[in-house]
Amino acid sequence: MGHLVPYGRLAVLLSGAHGCDVSIATVLPTVSSAEASHLDSLFAAASPGVRRLDFPLAPFDESQFPPGSDPFILRFEAMRRSAPLLGPVLASAGASALVTDLMLASVVLPVARERGVPCYVLYTSSAAMLAFCAYFPSHVDANATAGVVDVDLPGVYRVPKASVPKALYDPEHFFTKQFVANGRGLVHADGILVNTFDAFEPEAINALREGKVVPKFPPVFAVGPLLPVKFTPAKEPAGYTRWLDAQPARSVVYVSFGSRKAISPDQLQELAAGLEASGHRFLWVVKTTVVDRDDAAELGDLLGPGFLERVQGRAFVTKGWVEQEEILQHGSVGLFISHCGWNSVTEATAFGVPVLAWPRFGDQRVNAAVVARGGLGACEERWSWDEEEGLVSGEEVAGRIKAVMADETVAMKAAAVRDAAAAAMANVGTSYRSLAEFVARCCDAG
Ligand code: UDP
Ligand code: UDP
Repeated sequence: MGHLVPYGRLAVLLSGAHGCDVSIATVLPTVSSAEASHLDSLFAAASPGVRRLDFPLAPFDESQFPPGSDPFILRFEAMRRSAPLLGPVLASAGASALVTDLMLASVVLPVARERGVPCYVLYTSSAAMLAFCAYFPSHVDANATAGVVDVDLPGVYRVPKASVPKALYDPEHFFTKQFVANGRGLVHADGILVNTFDAFEPEAINALREGKVVPKFPPVFAVGPLLPVKFTPAKEPAGYTRWLDAQPARSVVYVSFGSRKAISPDQLQELAAGLEASGHRFLWVVKTTVVDRDDAAELGDLLGPGFLERVQGRAFVTKGWVEQEEILQHGSVGLFISHCGWNSVTEATAFGVPVLAWPRFGDQRVNAAVVARGGLGACEERWSWDEEEGLVSGEEVAGRIKAVMADETVAMKAAAVRDAAAAAMANVGTSYRSLAEFVARCCDAG
């Protein structure tokens, strides 16, 4: 979802405010049901200027990968192997520019070049993480024998070893190979769109633009925060919306760790204890399996005996999909405990909700550092990625929630970030102008 959601937002923005004709190559089938239903809602809501191009993948044998491989990363591998099929699709769409995901960049760029179509990347994480992706191949070349160490991003800042996505510790892993190949491929793109804004990540954006991270880096268009697409509202408001309506302003802690990963049963119980002991109201989206279609557990069993009864009235706990942007816009929400998937961070900037960062995986520690530097909230650096590193105790969670909820300056700073985000997206703002410049280049090329 973290990759799919911003593409839909960009498509709608390009076809609306910028008058472009957009086709979305839609990969079928999807891994999760959240993706399938998101695509349906997107095409139902989007204007006729956004067309759906179904893109069936070439046959792919998953059995050649280690058992238990991440199904979303495997799907990216299947897409990478299907890249040559994109050539005819590009021709039939009469495209004057192609925008692709970083996960596909090294294989899609040559296909676009062969067809003479300019190729851009929409990067769906932070500019800091973009700098990391772009620089990482040089880091690997220079540290071949030392393995992964702290990564000093030239002109940006140092990413400590503990914040480097763990998958990259293994140079032979197919994810690391994809990651390095894509990082090397980036310089051949015609430009990189990033879902962030100048005022939020000035160091990383400037360093990339000035060629400090990688010499001769392509133009960087900071176009965010990309705003939610307005879907047709459900006839009945969801249960959590009705519950939020009944809570006082800024009183609720919203807890969600995104669509990608599950939290272990032991950590879930500590988190439950922490939320309960914090004394605050909370709305918690519990995710217990990697792919939503596999989920069969009962909430009561997962969270321990009597928990749901004890917090009844001051909490809403669900295992289902929620419309996160509606929650973050709701005036009763005062804090977002987030894994710092980049879309969640950008949504928090757009609505000025302070974040208590608890990164779990991948790019999330790099993003959590952006949250803290950018004034959007707090990051507890000692909190573990996962169970291998140890559990974070309920007591610690409760203490941190109480401290952040009591700190007036946290909310004031997050509101200032929201104002800066709105200014960036307004007609004369940096993000609006960046996207307009990208469109102008595509028109010149077409
Ligand atoms: N999301 C949502 N409801 C959920 C879980 C996630 O609407 O129950 C949305 C969230 O608003 C964001 C996206 O799914 O737009 C998740 O992307 P993010 O980058 O935050 O994290 P990821 O899921 O990729 O780890
Ligand atoms: N990533 C990347 N190149 C790759 C694979 C991943 O830059 O070849 C980035 C990806 O965009 C994200 C981070 O590495 O910023 C972690 O990727 P992953 O897909 O594992 O996590 P997700 O973004 O789906 O939560």
